[in-house]
Amino acid sequence: MSASSASAVDQVSTSAYRIPTDAPEGDGTFAWDLTTLVLAQVQADGVVGTGWTYGSATCAGLIDEVLTPVIRGRDPMDVPGTFQGMVDALRNVGRPGVGGMALSAVDCALWDLKARLLELPLSKLLGQVHDRVPVYGSGGFTTYDEEQLTAQLKGWVADQGLTRVKIKIGESRGTREERDLSRIHEARDVIGPEVELFVDANGAYTVGQAVRMADRMRPADVRWFEEPVSSDDLDGLASVRAHTSADVAAGEYGFDLVYFGRMCAARAVDCLQVDVSRCGGITELLRVAAVAAVHGLQVSGHCAPNLHVDVLASVPNLRHLEWFHDHVRIESMLFDGARRPARGEVSPNLNAPGNGLKWRAEEAERWVIK
Ligand SMILES: [Mg+2]
Repeated sequence: MSASSASAVDQVSTSAYRIPTDAPEGDGTFAWDLTTLVLAQVQADGVVGTGWTYGSATCAGLIDEVLTPVIRGRDPMDVPGTFQGMVDALRNVGRPGVGGMALSAVDCALWDLKARLLELPLSKLLGQVHDRVPVYGSGGFTTYDEEQLTAQLKGWVADQGLTRVKIKIGESRGTREERDLSRIHEARDVIGPEVELFVDANGAYTVGQAVRMADRMRPADVRWFEEPVSSDDLDGLASVRAHTSADVAAGEYGFDLVYFGRMCAARAVDCLQVDVSRCGGITELLRVAAVAAVHGLQVSGHCAPNLHVDVLASVPNLRHLEWFHDHVRIESMLFDGARRPARGEVSPNLNAPGNGLKWRAEEAERWVIK
């Protein structure tokens, strides 16, 4: 199929799936045992592009009601034009939150569609910079007992060869400091001295508490302290950053470029986290990465791992991608072509058009809620 023969996006479809976790999961400020995946598919000339987000099934309804009228009839080659039309359509509905997730799922689907129409791997369409994307194992939930934590860490390091791992701390809104510390030291004992250890407090600590905790976790050589305080508190993040040697990271709740611009300007983080399934999709992630570069910051991809591989391979100032246990499990079950790490890295699929993934609709049917 040549680019010029693709006339218009003629179909948009949505669906949602509620998938039980393999064990109860929790962090400093939230707990869950189900994860909802919202799928968006766009079609032109019989070719289908696929994107998704992890949010409320309401995202699917918002796509149907607000975004689909904007997308239908658009030239599938003009993804940023369609993106802008969707942003305009969301003005009175609200871009952050559900609006941003709906927008992101569709934007990713549109880029996948364009690459498939052009018969190009998505990373080649975007302009690949890196052959491989470093990943870090992410899970280590506060709900895990010692045995579960040990098994997960060993699985990442010994079985999958990952060289960086992250656990959740800040249990019960920062009220279990001693358990947090004992789990950090337990993790270090399991992974040995060579593997990098990251922690994520999901905004559970106060500024002073986070600085004290950073000091107390120093013997475990923690390299990455994610959301030590609420990511709404940019001054607080900057203050923790000024007083700790671990890199402070945040940004997973960023829904547009302006948010990330403010985070950079506030010198709040050492590394910007961005989520392609929330920030506005591939179109916005590339802009966020450019702004981060202006401030001398690298970018780390948050969750939805298989949705990130191609776009992060095209980001010069890439640090790594979060290989989040829950989403890795879901995407491995529901997509043919889901990536597997080798020596701590994943690669774009250069032997298939688009994102190289195929949705396993029959497999997903048992969890469908929309
Ligand atoms: Mg996080």
